[in-house]
Amino acid sequence: MTLSLKELTAEADRCVACGLCLPHCPTYRKTGSEADSPRGRIQLIRAVSQDILPNSARFKEHIDLCLSCRSCESACPNSVSYGTLVDTTRALYIKKESLWLTVAKPFIRHRALSYICTWPLWLLSKAKLLGALKRIVPAAKLLPAISKPIAWKALYPATKPKHGAVSLFLGCATNAFDNQTLSASIYVLNALGYDVHVPTAQTCCGSIARQAGDAVEADALLAKNGASFDRTMPILSTASGCGAGLQDYLTTHQVQDISTFLINCDWSVAEITPLQQRIFVQDPCSLRNGLKAQKAVYDLLKKIPTADIQALPGNGQCCGGAGAYSITQPEMANTLRDDKLTAMQSNQVSILATSNIGCSLHITKGLENAGMDIDVLHPVQIIAKQMGFRA
Ligand code: SF4
Ligand code: SF4
Repeated sequence: MTLSLKELTAEADRCVACGLCLPHCPTYRKTGSEADSPRGRIQLIRAVSQDILPNSARFKEHIDLCLSCRSCESACPNSVSYGTLVDTTRALYIKKESLWLTVAKPFIRHRALSYICTWPLWLLSKAKLLGALKRIVPAAKLLPAISKPIAWKALYPATKPKHGAVSLFLGCATNAFDNQTLSASIYVLNALGYDVHVPTAQTCCGSIARQAGDAVEADALLAKNGASFDRTMPILSTASGCGAGLQDYLTTHQVQDISTFLINCDWSVAEITPLQQRIFVQDPCSLRNGLKAQKAVYDLLKKIPTADIQALPGNGQCCGGAGAYSITQPEMANTLRDDKLTAMQSNQVSILATSNIGCSLHITKGLENAGMDIDVLHPVQIIAKQMGFRA
């Protein structure tokens, strides 16, 4: 929900400045600056909303450095809605047209355009020419591995006696860079007796635009999704970042993270091959603080016989992925990611499960840079493989 100016001031006024959120804030932990803490940012928001302080470049810097991880919100004893405060502040004061968003907008808006453009990139990567492209066009270095594009059907019918029907949210980043997670999700849902609908007119969840302060664009994308999805069936998201954005703003529909939906299914028909491995789980902030559904990932993976499921130490802190944060704030994003790489190294991680595409891409890039060989997979891909799914 985006607040009015009056509501913004009133919500900021609810902060009693107790400081209990401070140790939970990744940016405060790194900079030690009150202005980069939730309490400090709320004071700045209140002052700017009341014209006590100007909407200056320094104010923008402190708001821009916030990850929107909402760890502060989970820790706050007074239930201050920090996520809503920072979304509204960005919409009212920080709106900007960054170059990368201008370039990305048509691809975010139009799935067909993104589908067409992904083909040549995938073919270049197959021909091992993506490296050459990255040398010629420095911006291409930001590109992660591209999935072979899939033209989705509108309906994937259940293969077992039918229990119900769901809609699958594709998400622009998941569709472009990790569509095997989407295929794996359809496989598992069909095997558990669910028809899977994939509405063709669906589009981006709007979270990236909202994070950039473009609430108009974000709301337009949401409206398109609202008209595309059937209200009578749940919308399942495989990326918790998209899921949290949809749940917060697409209030006309029932939105669930896929792991939450799956653990409530009847698994008596499922055949799952044992996996004698330790799987570490990374909790995305959007799953932990937005959807509050991180436990479902552990419960889902524990359905794999003999698998040892462990939380990655330091899960309470953001990895730095945070939507487009790794592009807009690379220094802080990489510093936070280094902590994750250290945790993975000291725990000898070989498989990391994460249910957010933003975290997955950011961590994978860090592992590549550090020469660390660790599989980063969506939990549904891991369980689907044990049920016979082949990419
Ligand atoms: S959302 Fe995250 S980065 Fe922003 S103030 Fe809260 S804890 Fe800190
Ligand atoms: S914990 Fe809540 S009330 Fe206390 S300083 Fe942080 S935001 Fe304000």
